Amino acid sequence: MIDDLRRIASRATDRFTRRFWGPTFRCPVCHFLIAAVDADGNALLVCPVCGVVIEIDSVYGHIVPVVHDVEVFRPQPKARVHPLATHLPIGLFPFALFGAAVLFVASLVRQLGAAGVLGGRAPVLADATLVLLVLAVVGALPTFASGLWDWNRRYRRRPYRQITLKIVGSIVFLVVGGLAIALHASGAVFSGATGLMQLGSPLGLASALVYLGALAGNMLVVAVLGHVGGTLVYGR
Ligand SMILES: [Zn+2]
Repeated sequence: MIDDLRRIASRATDRFTRRFWGPTFRCPVCHFLIAAVDADGNALLVCPVCGVVIEIDSVYGHIVPVVHDVEVFRPQPKARVHPLATHLPIGLFPFALFGAAVLFVASLVRQLGAAGVLGGRAPVLADATLVLLVLAVVGALPTFASGLWDWNRRYRRRPYRQITLKIVGSIVFLVVGGLAIALHASGAVFSGATGLMQLGSPLGLASALVYLGALAGNMLVVAVLGHVGGTLVYGR
């Protein structure tokens, strides 16, 4: 089952990289996957993981990376703030999604006429879910800022498809996370009295679905961000 999931994920990744990154090759030294389009006008680029300078040659339409040198003056921060900070949003967000999913199931059961499965604890769970959501999204701000700092200093603002993907994904995560917080805190999704989603009214149902969709979508975004970030730390 895990192997199947891994195969599906790697097929989706391959399709994504072919479509949005164009031709890719592996760094001859550390085997990190690099998009050929990230090379500069002289067909040169620096591997973001191991720091070798690569010239991209083309032989009969095949990419042949040639290693020329190693970037000597590469800033190597002792304390990597970004990989540490990233654990706050990545660690907390799944629990916010879990809380929202439990509340949705409880609201659905209640809507179908059964007795409340959470007893009187739904308002507490709704509040806890909001706190986790706020901590995860607010925690993403220093993560984003330290990531930009690393790109500026460690990678010298060079274009890397991985980093572009991370910047775009982070903005999406912050905007969609902000929307979910606004929906939750405004009382559009949860009833103040019962702490449950108001699935009976069309407006309540619509806002609950937008809220859950935003959380599920952001979970996917944060998983992709964490995975791509991991490749920049560990190589392959
Ligand atoms: Zn490399």
